[in-house]
Amino acid sequence: MANETKMVILTPHVHVFHIDDGADSHPGGSNNYFVGDPKEEMLLIDTGDHKRVWTDALLQAWRDLGSPKITAILITHGHADHYGGLDRVWDAMHAPVRAHPKMSKILKDLVPEDALKPLKNNEVLRTGGGVSLKAIFTPGHAIDHTCFYFAKEKVLFTGDTILGSSSATMSDLKSYMKSLEKLSHLGHESIASAHGALIPAPRGKRLVQVYIGHRTEREQQVVASLQKGLSTVDEMLKDIYPKNLKKGLRESAKRNIRNHLDKLMKEGKVAESQPTYALGSASAKKAASKNGAGRANGKAPAKAKASAGKK
Ligand SMILES: [Zn+2]
Repeated sequence: MANETKMVILTPHVHVFHIDDGADSHPGGSNNYFVGDPKEEMLLIDTGDHKRVWTDALLQAWRDLGSPKITAILITHGHADHYGGLDRVWDAMHAPVRAHPKMSKILKDLVPEDALKPLKNNEVLRTGGGVSLKAIFTPGHAIDHTCFYFAKEKVLFTGDTILGSSSATMSDLKSYMKSLEKLSHLGHESIASAHGALIPAPRGKRLVQVYIGHRTEREQQVVASLQKGLSTVDEMLKDIYPKNLKKGLRESAKRNIRNHLDKLMKEGKVAESQPTYALGSASAKKAASKNGAGRANGKAPAKAKASAGKK
């Protein structure tokens, strides 16, 4: 399958390498970024997945820029579609690899250990064209996630914390909300995310707030489902999401609901009731799991109920 690619200039010092990778989980393709001055030096943000076609196209984009010296290869987080091409990209660029310290374990299998320089929170990275980016640790989508802020041109590189064409997923909603709060104080105007469309000013300015609003609304929907007496994630999925939700998105929607339930439980607003068990034949088990009250697939059915009186 042909993966179409293109280069776009977002602001004077931000060159976007875009690839239509056709993934269901993040509609609108993916973006890697060259930031700086191609006549001097640049930073590269993310190296795409391991597919050779992606790496080849990314390296071709770099050569089209005149093969500028890469000051550092920045990785937003430890998901394979962000660092998968790193070994081959590093072979071509030989630049220090900078990422959250929690990513070192993954990265040291891809590049020589002395090429790894873990980031510090709020560290400033400089490159050609007088460009400097600030690394901001933003756990939530992944525990090792970093966003980068380019204050001079008011561009926020959000990795998978904020996406251009769909809503982000997260592994820990509580820290995710804290990270969004952090980003909301930056004064950015454009959002340059790892997947989907670029969000220029003025919409980029508001997008963090839109995300915070969206999460808050989703939480209210989960609470409303619980108040209706719905107690399983499947029931809540049907209640909250549109009927025609794509199959590929269903799992991440369920994960979202579970994340909200986890957050509400951490805050003492929801209690999880124990799953029930019964001895019996396979058909009885099947019936039990249909009712959401068994461990037929080895997973807890994630029953939950709102505790009365609390909001
Ligand atoms: Zn991703």
